[in-house]
Amino acid sequence: MSVPFVDLRAQYEALKSEIDPAIQTVIDGTAFIGGKDNPFVRTFEESFAAWLGVDEAIGCANGTDAIEILLQAAGIGAGDEVIVPALTWISTGEAVTTIGATPVFADIDPATFTIDPASVEQAITERTKAIIPVHLYGHPADMGAIMAIAERHGLLVLEDCAQAHGAKVGGRMVGTIGDMASFSYYPGKNLGAYGDAGGMVARDPAIAQRARMLANHGQSRKHDHQFEGRNSRLDGIQAAVLSVKLPHLDGWNARRGQAARKLTAGIAARCPGVVPPQIADGSSHVFHLYVVRNRNRDGLAQALKQAGIANAVHYPIPLPLMPAYARFGHTAADFPAAVTACAEILSLPMYPELGDAEIEAIVSVVETFARTDICG
Ligand SMILES: *Cc1c(COP(=O)(O)O)cnc(C)c1O
Repeated sequence: MSVPFVDLRAQYEALKSEIDPAIQTVIDGTAFIGGKDNPFVRTFEESFAAWLGVDEAIGCANGTDAIEILLQAAGIGAGDEVIVPALTWISTGEAVTTIGATPVFADIDPATFTIDPASVEQAITERTKAIIPVHLYGHPADMGAIMAIAERHGLLVLEDCAQAHGAKVGGRMVGTIGDMASFSYYPGKNLGAYGDAGGMVARDPAIAQRARMLANHGQSRKHDHQFEGRNSRLDGIQAAVLSVKLPHLDGWNARRGQAARKLTAGIAARCPGVVPPQIADGSSHVFHLYVVRNRNRDGLAQALKQAGIANAVHYPIPLPLMPAYARFGHTAADFPAAVTACAEILSLPMYPELGDAEIEAIVSVVETFARTDICG
């Protein structure tokens, strides 16, 4: 049996009767371009804000822009430092550089793979302005510790929620805890559009308004450019697709959770040396990715691939050790937890439609490998 990594087609088939007319309505109304006066964008922004439990959510073109624009709206720029985790997708670092500030990398907690508060504390200098915890793979970062550090040092916190729509920590939704939050609706994310799309949230209404204007050429209304911004609008078709999908998000997250529990039960009972994802006390995990650890990760990846089970590594190299950040002169010794994780992590198939037969196929290949591998 072959198992894909994600199955966006299955989700579309289930919603086709709602999605096709929603897209057609945008076309019929030629409501293509986003902005405050696009009814499809407004509807999605309002329903996403209500779902999250905040006053306002702002659509933008993608999750990378969301980070950049929020940092810019908060007045962060040249000469400032922003602390980001060593293990994340490059957007988190890239956004900091794009607005002229400097990313400073912190190591991760080896159990949850999210930014390590102790390492954040060590990275703080007099130039530090903000911390970007990433709720990696769908597991919340340690927000209690991070908010306490931020408060002590007068820093802003921007939650990168691109992989964690609906995750909770201490009963609170991620994206409602820090000063600001960015979301990605890239098609493969837990809530995905049919193209690029992103969202922004800010607790301070002045930052929210600046972010909204920055994403639309600095306009407060048409032809009233208060400052220079950029074109980073959420378009009508993406907003309409997202509005159809949003009511299903909690159900999809629950199904990801059920699939993850079954994978974890099988792996814990039958696969020695393979470590299933850990969930910190008080956290709920939305399993954007289901990431296991094994000392012979490449061997496990190969065995799964040969059996037709898709898998991937998120991510193979800590961000500060990539050529893109060679200018900082970091070595592996600077991020021991991230370096070890990058050598051992493997993402197994995970999507809401993942069924029991697929789960058994995955566990049985992992079991055969684990019981025969001499390195494991
Ligand atoms: C996907 C992702 C982003 C960026 O989102 P895009 O919409 O692809 O620009 C940012 N941070 C993390 C952690 C992501 O996974």
